[in-house]
Amino acid sequence: MGTGSIRNHRAAIREYMAEHGVSYTTAKRAVETPTAAAAAGGPPDDGFGGHEFEYESHTDLFRCHLCREYEVTARADGGPISPCPGLPGYGGETERVYLLLHENPRKRDGGGAGLARRIWASGIGRTVRFCYRDGRWLIESAPGVVDELQRQIAKIPCTLPDGSTAPAFTATEQIAFAEGQRILAENYAAYVAKYGPPR
Ligand SMILES: [Zn+2]
Repeated sequence: MGTGSIRNHRAAIREYMAEHGVSYTTAKRAVETPTAAAAAGGPPDDGFGGHEFEYESHTDLFRCHLCREYEVTARADGGPISPCPGLPGYGGETERVYLLLHENPRKRDGGGAGLARRIWASGIGRTVRFCYRDGRWLIESAPGVVDELQRQIAKIPCTLPDGSTAPAFTATEQIAFAEGQRILAENYAAYVAKYGPPR
């Protein structure tokens, strides 16, 4: 690929981002992958090594919003991409575990974005694509910090229809990586069945 075509390629990705309001990673996947490539078995491996790159306008580069590494550095020497170490709060641990949260069924409708923000604010856990279905949240974390995350999540409140507050999650279960991946694949299949492959 010559310099000109790389520029066109990046312009196409940026155009897609603007048009659809999606992240760089999602846009790049859509531009580079035929739409049928999203197999029903689970979210496709996107070749980004777990990084989630976003465009940073003041450097004109793409940077992972989890580990803060730039894509050009992660792909140094044209070799395979270095795996994303995830959130700094994971302490460089590469193993991943999950918490399965049961949303309080009495919770007033809405407020999901606020709950997701509270989880991200912990710095040691995060929502991932297709993590939510039918009142269950699958939250990614790392083995060394998942107990602390569980303690913090137990304190997150929600509002009930009568205006009083209660715990937002009535139960949390620690889930091994493979089981978490299985749940994500199920959630993804349910999403595709309802809305079609994500763009
Ligand atoms: Zn990263």
